[in-house]
Amino acid sequence: MAADSAPVTHDTDILILGSGAAGLCAALEADPRLRVTLLCKASPTESSTNYAQGGVSAVLDDKDSVALHVSDTISAGGGLCHPEVVQRVADRGAAMIRWLQDQGVNFTPYPPSGELHLTQEGGHSRRRVAHVADHTGRTIQEALMEQVKSRPNVELHSHCIAVDLIVQRHAGENRCIGIYAQDTRTNAVDAYRARCVILATGGASKVYLYTSNPDTSSGDGLAMAWRAGCRVANMEFIQFHPTCLYDPRAKSSLMTEALRGEGAKLRLPGSGEEFMPRFDERGELAPRDIVARAIDHEMKRLGLDYVHLDISHKPADELREAFPNAYSRCLEYDIDLTCQPIPVVPAAHYTCGGVVTDRHGCTDLPGLYAIGEVAHTGLHGANRMASNSLLECLVFAHAASGHINETLSRDAPPPEVIPWDESRVSDSDEEVVVSHNWDELRRFMWDYVGIVRTSKRLERAQHRCTLLHEEINEYYRDFRISRDLIELRNLVQVADLIIRCAMMRRESRGLHYTLDYPELDPAMDGCDTVLHPEAGRDLPLQAAVTR
Ligand SMILES: Cc1cc2nc3c(=O)[nH]c(=O)nc-3n(C[C@H](O)[C@H](O)[C@H](O)COP(=O)(O)OP(=O)(O)OC[C@H]3O[C@@H](n4cnc5c(N)ncnc54)[C@H](O)[C@@H]3O)c2cc1C
Repeated sequence: MAADSAPVTHDTDILILGSGAAGLCAALEADPRLRVTLLCKASPTESSTNYAQGGVSAVLDDKDSVALHVSDTISAGGGLCHPEVVQRVADRGAAMIRWLQDQGVNFTPYPPSGELHLTQEGGHSRRRVAHVADHTGRTIQEALMEQVKSRPNVELHSHCIAVDLIVQRHAGENRCIGIYAQDTRTNAVDAYRARCVILATGGASKVYLYTSNPDTSSGDGLAMAWRAGCRVANMEFIQFHPTCLYDPRAKSSLMTEALRGEGAKLRLPGSGEEFMPRFDERGELAPRDIVARAIDHEMKRLGLDYVHLDISHKPADELREAFPNAYSRCLEYDIDLTCQPIPVVPAAHYTCGGVVTDRHGCTDLPGLYAIGEVAHTGLHGANRMASNSLLECLVFAHAASGHINETLSRDAPPPEVIPWDESRVSDSDEEVVVSHNWDELRRFMWDYVGIVRTSKRLERAQHRCTLLHEEINEYYRDFRISRDLIELRNLVQVADLIIRCAMMRRESRGLHYTLDYPELDPAMDGCDTVLHPEAGRDLPLQAAVTR
């Protein structure tokens, strides 16, 4: 559809893409004398942040220490965490919790002492997860959004999807000077000129058929940064949550791991066989990645769409009381978990890799920052430890804003930008191409580049990805853009990056498991998989050399 209005150029100092924890925190930490424009492509509350249930990790207990938080994170990260980054993030944990409290986040207290109630999650050797019941993310997002709305220097534009970065190429030096973004309600594509741009666009889990993430996680920031010349790293490390409700209508429905903790069994549909003991002596209590791999194995072996998670042997009253969210969520899809098994599939949950950044969140492109799930900071290594991601969002949002506040005035104001040109495109008469390619991409990524990989499957996926890439780029050149087309173009780019990283890693480590190289290769300790936009320079490098 053609735009309803003529293109406009907006001017600002700091342009932030994303209204999750990272974007909102960066906006609040910006010098109030600077003009901030914050864009999000859906409603302001639609983001992964909004769905985070567990909480934020921080050392807040006498029995805990920063050294333990550091060693737990490093051990989860399978030899690829950057120790200096882990140290910095763990050091800042308690301060970030205080910052959130100052913004109005009331964490769940522990009544006897009045201190915060802390939970313990997978990989953590101590209780160190501060939370607000089981809706921590929603509370954080609402509190930060309230604060942002009260800031006169911050302007919020919702339902605006960034299409591409604008890069000034001058005398061999490149600089990010803004973006083009489409208002998804009017279809107008405006230019936003800025002295610096912060990508806080979240992860890319929507590249897979099943995901726990909301629709916003389509890797837009990653793809835009890559097209603009930034390196990306460690894209092969995709974290899968083992049990998401299987129903075509059920989006983002995690079935909490506590169900397995309380005795739920994983069974094959039909025979009812409990299959986990064949994979691990701990059965359903094995770590997340082992359970996800076992489910994937059985689904692929038997051609199943899902397996069953069954806790119906427990008394119904107990279940309703212990799992009110899971119970009501299942009932929405006509499943009564007190007397029926729940159909579940593993689902893409977290993107560990991302745009390579330094300690301030700076990318390879001057003027461009990346923070939150879109970034590769070196914190997570080959596997993210639960509840470290919100903390990372906050620590790097502070770092990026601090850097901008200090350095921005020294930069020359950006030059004029060229308005978006739609003169050579027409309205598509074949929207089916977009929907078909969406489905195809997410299906082959699930089948070939999912939890268990092989070199042959990766080659198949790469072949299909190349064909789709060409077709989508041609479509993008010829027709007016829409949110679906913008996201599809980005997803196919991200799929290509995931496949390339996975092909480069000839070992099994952390979240990357391949049947052709099932062992960890100690020679690859500390080696990130770094992709360079300049062809032919993709090399696994020592972490210390990546920046
Ligand atoms: C179900 C679930 C539970 C989780 N639980 C926890 C937990 O307990 N603890 C924890 O630490 N982590 C948890 N995580 C992970 C954590 O929530 C995310 O890593 C974190 O919230 C990411 O924040 P972010 O600000 O980087 O991105 P997001 O919160 O995903 O925000 C992305 C923003 O970018 C915007 N955007 C994207 N593309 C564009 C574009 N092209 N143009 C304009 N705007 C754009 C979106 O509209 C959105 O506003 C969970 C994740 C999920 C899905």
